[in-house]
Amino acid sequence: MNKQVVKSDMSVVVVGASLAGLMMGIALAKAGMKVTILERVGTKPRSGAVLQVDSGERDNSATAKSLRKLASGGLRSAQAWSSIQSRLHAAALDDARIELIYDTPIRGADQNDEMAWVVTDTGKIFSGDIVIGADGHRSIVRRMVAPQKPNATFAGYMIWVAILNEQDIAEKYWPDADMAVSMPDGIGDFLLGSVIQGAGGSRKRGERRLGWAWYDNTRNHLLRELGCVRGSLVHHSLIGTDIPGHTLTELADQARERWPQPWLAATLHSIQTRALTAIPVSEYVPNQLVNKRIAITGDAAHVLTPISAAGFNASLLDAATLTDCILQQSGLYDPVSALSRYESLRLKPVQQMVQSGQSFSRSFGR
Ligand SMILES: Cc1cc2nc3c(=O)[nH]c(=O)nc-3n(C[C@H](O)[C@H](O)[C@H](O)COP(=O)(O)OP(=O)(O)OC[C@H]3O[C@@H](n4cnc5c(N)ncnc54)[C@H](O)[C@@H]3O)c2cc1C
Repeated sequence: MNKQVVKSDMSVVVVGASLAGLMMGIALAKAGMKVTILERVGTKPRSGAVLQVDSGERDNSATAKSLRKLASGGLRSAQAWSSIQSRLHAAALDDARIELIYDTPIRGADQNDEMAWVVTDTGKIFSGDIVIGADGHRSIVRRMVAPQKPNATFAGYMIWVAILNEQDIAEKYWPDADMAVSMPDGIGDFLLGSVIQGAGGSRKRGERRLGWAWYDNTRNHLLRELGCVRGSLVHHSLIGTDIPGHTLTELADQARERWPQPWLAATLHSIQTRALTAIPVSEYVPNQLVNKRIAITGDAAHVLTPISAAGFNASLLDAATLTDCILQQSGLYDPVSALSRYESLRLKPVQQMVQSGQSFSRSFGR
């Protein structure tokens, strides 16, 4: 990834082992740093949305190119979150400079002139030259970086998402090989569908998967009743097993009225098997990305509507930029000035990126 390397005793603690945290850890380890990645939950596979790896602003630095190649597996098409995560996870496991520690929730971060550290829920301390918060839209590390603006806020709508095997629907509905994305007209709400490679990588008809995302601004009351959204804050997603039966019936009726095939068959299968998740959308425009030795990246740093399809790529650029800021110091290792440079390069682009999605959210959200 990089020919240059930093002093081998330099260390970083990354909070969060999802896409942003893994990319940051991998890039910094390749640059020679000792990396500890702490993740709140266990290693159990998680499902996720379909992602477009290649959308959004470009950065063709060697670090960014190398991360993009690794994350995408060389594919330019949309793909499952889980496919990207498993490639990054394998690369992190493969790097002896990275220690991945699961089931370890962080409850705070702090620093002095010499180092930064995080404290786990059991009181254990992990310290390093720098701490990076890659802990998502409800980031705890963000509280230390931006105490005046610690929270992302609910954007006023949700997205129902699911991924299923093509085999789960009748063969007559399997899309033609060249059909990649469809955006059928909805009544108010709308649906995005993608045909992606199968779990084993196959793109053969019958072996692929269908991913769909149904943008819905009519069920905020449900999110509030079930505690997913409280006040202006998103607390958690709504998983299939917790969706009330009458909501599933309403969704199936609406799908029958609105979506053409194959998306009707796909949504009905996901509804009938409860294999769908409602994600309340939140937004965060950052004023700061760094406080001395502590920085934030990914959704901890900027949360934008998924319609922009740019959050993942922005996380990749965060990782590449921060790593390059450290490498560019050519031996004069000064983490505070490297992180300050990272902020000066990334703050404006990510502010503009989130703001550009807000016009959609303001018209669609309620
Ligand atoms: C429906 C949907 C569709 C999307 N589509 C696209 C797309 O097409 N293109 C695109 O570029 N982006 C897309 N995005 C955005 C993209 O998925 C994210 O921006 C990207 O994956 C970066 O996420 P992250 O790793 O920062 O955060 P997350 O995935 O939220 O990860 C945060 C991690 O931190 C861990 N964590 C949280 N708190 C703690 C704690 N206290 N201690 C330890 N660990 C903690 C969590 O368990 C989690 O593993 C989409 C998002 C959604 C919701």
